[in-house]
Amino acid sequence: MKHNFGAGPCILPQEVFKQASYGVLDFNDTGLSILEISHRAPEFVAVMDEAIALVKELLNVPAGYSVIFLQGGASLQFAMLAYNLLPEGKKASYINTGVWSTKAIEEARLFGEIDVIASSKDKNFSYIPKDYTVAADSTYLHFTSNNTIFGTEFHTFPDAKNHLVCDMSSDIFSKEINVADFDLIYAGAQKNIGPAGATLVIVKDEILGKTGRAIPSMLDYQKQISAESMYNTPPVFSVYVSMLNLRWLKAKGGVDAIEKENIAKAKSLYTEIDRNPLFKGTTAVEDRSMMSVCFVMENPELEKPFLKYAEEKGCIGIKGHRSVGGFRASLYNALPITSVHVLVEAMQEFQEKN
Ligand code: PLP
Repeated sequence: MKHNFGAGPCILPQEVFKQASYGVLDFNDTGLSILEISHRAPEFVAVMDEAIALVKELLNVPAGYSVIFLQGGASLQFAMLAYNLLPEGKKASYINTGVWSTKAIEEARLFGEIDVIASSKDKNFSYIPKDYTVAADSTYLHFTSNNTIFGTEFHTFPDAKNHLVCDMSSDIFSKEINVADFDLIYAGAQKNIGPAGATLVIVKDEILGKTGRAIPSMLDYQKQISAESMYNTPPVFSVYVSMLNLRWLKAKGGVDAIEKENIAKAKSLYTEIDRNPLFKGTTAVEDRSMMSVCFVMENPELEKPFLKYAEEKGCIGIKGHRSVGGFRASLYNALPITSVHVLVEAMQEFQEKN
């Protein structure tokens, strides 16, 4: 049995993969694959509608917000959100907590003045900055809720009065959030939502249409909302499997239930990292991510042998990102706690042998 701690693309529950395979072969006894029926056919429209309804239900999205599935990944959102929200000559504030925020900043600079009000670059992005002031004339404040590469996470969000815009690509649906605190939330599907291909955007309707600029249709949130995520051919496979996965999450008890499990998973692994003298965490303890657990070994020479040992136990994908080294265990929603226990046991056994 394999325990997939990889950072992505997605890991999904086995039952979702199974259901997806039925839909790919014969969707709802139509004799056709979900991939070949028309995306305008009532069968696929129902899939899109259910996916959007599940997002709204699971995250308690209030009235006045639209939910859309787009393409281009979270990376396209770095530019698209600024294109749609930042009027020329106006300013937006950004908190830089890693590679993804840095990219979001670079892209937004094409559209207006970007004020980087805080950064943790001085310590290799190993903490979440807490000391910053947002200028009164700032249009929005952008941050990345989970720093997938460096393993930090905002456990308290910035003040909602600052018009929050958030990249939640790697922790959406992992814990309860109050959508009403945000102007815009976006996430590439491929961690906790579904296969790569779709990008989820949740946006407050009243903030749109205020830049005065003409926006190409594919990049215009208002056009995408009016077209109900079907301005062009949507990523049907990704939306279909995302819908199945959100059904799975609902059946499990929703975000509240998965959050409890995610807390238990992260606690189990961090407890072992802190207990075991061979290992140490790489981030500020109070900012440790529940989804992306980064750690190294006191003796770097033992890292390769431990990686091999863990792989022999079925723990896959724990090699750290090159910017941190060591290990990164991604604990996405679909990873069962039993997999974390296997990794913890491997760490304990490795300690006994070394
Ligand atoms: N933002 C975060 C937090 C990510 O983790 C990633 C990818 O892992 C991205 C953005 C980029 O996403 P995409 O590949 O969908 O453009």
